[in-house]
Amino acid sequence: MLQFSGVSKTFVDREKGEGMVAIRDIDLSIEKEDLVCLVGPSGCGKSTLLNLAAGFERPTHGKVLVDGREVEGPSPRIGVVFQEPSLFPWLSVLENVALGLKVQGQPRREREERARQMLELVDLAAFENARPSDLSGGMKQKAVIARTLAMGPDVLLMDEPFGALDEQARKHMDMELLKIWQQERKTVVFVTHNIEEAIVLGNRIVLMSTHPGEIFKEWNVDLPRPRDMFSGEASALRQEISTALQQVL
Ligand code: ADP
Ligand code: MG
Repeated sequence: MLQFSGVSKTFVDREKGEGMVAIRDIDLSIEKEDLVCLVGPSGCGKSTLLNLAAGFERPTHGKVLVDGREVEGPSPRIGVVFQEPSLFPWLSVLENVALGLKVQGQPRREREERARQMLELVDLAAFENARPSDLSGGMKQKAVIARTLAMGPDVLLMDEPFGALDEQARKHMDMELLKIWQQERKTVVFVTHNIEEAIVLGNRIVLMSTHPGEIFKEWNVDLPRPRDMFSGEASALRQEISTALQQVL
């Protein structure tokens, strides 16, 4: 469903006038409704890969396809969640969640109904009249997820969405995301530098190496959910991925 085929991206350094290969020759197929975690050292091209899938950037070589059709620009079928929650402070939570639908021209009643359903899904129904500044970091990200889901995307691209949260909040959000994923059945690509988070979430974990970013290794995780991070299998997997990560640093 989401496919990278021979994808490379070179950024041109205008001052030096030379190219910098951010990612090289990426072949990766992500099945519909799968949850894939992308891990790798800082600068290995994780965000570049997501930005290509989101249509924010175009590949230098190769193709990014969704259901066999090339991604040529941003689309409502592809939702993106970044680390920094991007909410408008002067709008209520409900208005923020409904904003994309408003831009699409949906009438108020319909868009508010849809926004309320999404707030229900992320357990923020009681906060629809709150302002973003009244919310904790995790709640802000829930509102962003609700806003993204309101647009009805098939694919959810998440770039270290809980990376700015403290550990407790992050663990809570991981569980919330799993609940949403199980209910909504989206295809999720989740970037994290936290191996434990990748093991809690992913059906697959893809490790990238750096300079240039390439796929180094991947794992299928078939541990039952909710995953016990203290189990022997989870510990062994964590050890294995940590060792591989050392090799690509
Ligand atoms: P990651 O998300 O894994 O930390 P990025 O995808 O952000 O890595 O970056 C990969 C490489 O590409 C880095 O060396 C980064 O400096 C470079 N890069 C990313 N975006 C741009 C850009 N818009 N212009 C120039 N270089 C970029
Ligand atoms: Mg990044």
